[in-house]
Amino acid sequence: MDIKKPIWPLCDLLIRLYIISPHQNIVELARELPDSLELSGIVYENPHKLIESVADVLEGFASIKNERDTKLLPKIRGCDGQELNLLDAAIALTKQKILEHELEIINSFLCGPRRCTLCCTGPTQSSRQEFFEIPVLKEELALFDLPLIDLHESRMTTANAEPELKIDGVSFYKKYPAAVYNWATGFSLILARGSRCPHLKDSGTCNIYSMRLKICRKPQIFPVVIEERNEGQKELVKRDVILAIWDCPYVRDLKTEIMTYAIFCGLDCIFKENKA
Ligand code: SF4
Ligand code: SF4
Repeated sequence: MDIKKPIWPLCDLLIRLYIISPHQNIVELARELPDSLELSGIVYENPHKLIESVADVLEGFASIKNERDTKLLPKIRGCDGQELNLLDAAIALTKQKILEHELEIINSFLCGPRRCTLCCTGPTQSSRQEFFEIPVLKEELALFDLPLIDLHESRMTTANAEPELKIDGVSFYKKYPAAVYNWATGFSLILARGSRCPHLKDSGTCNIYSMRLKICRKPQIFPVVIEERNEGQKELVKRDVILAIWDCPYVRDLKTEIMTYAIFCGLDCIFKENKA
């Protein structure tokens, strides 16, 4: 996977060929692509090999063309508020999944060697934020030998809600510098100012890298082909943007490459600062 060689243009071509072809199997169709293929100035060598890395996502698309699983396809609205037709919704969903998969892998090799610890530490003393929150899955709880705050009060609120949760009359993030909480939205690790994830080594690397949290594998370049909105009732809306978090040093270094990646994928690009 290479940020300069996004896989989506290749998948897009394959999907469009598949829609008009009599083939039932999209991955088999990929084997009929030439060994070297140029798309918008990008040369893909052995494109069918690249396609195999996202075969399960493309097979999900294929099942929709073959009119299986169409009931499982969620409703997606376009920017104009109109519901997308079945094919456009299936393509948008497939694109979201393929970009998530690709950027997650790209993140691992961009972030790992940097020795940057921004995602693993609480705010600095001069920061406006009091704490950072790192979502933790239930099955990841065993990774932490930290206080687990699972109170009726915590389960009724969220970390950023006002008024903030107090424990023994003290703001929760002041009571424990690092702890895991069970909120109304699920578990999260709260790192207060000056604190750090217990797995962060002095060398700046992660002690449990191969088992690190799912969220720690996520890129700082997020595909938002489809956005989930929760305004009273959950709905999916087509956004077609790449969101890149400006705090991250590799995002700053690769600004041009990220913008080019977005263009090749037919998306707008937004750079956003997350931590203040
Ligand atoms: S688990 Fe590892 S990568 Fe994740 S926050 Fe902790 S030290 Fe960082
Ligand atoms: S800010 Fe970027 S480079 Fe730093 S730890 Fe987070 S993802 Fe890695």
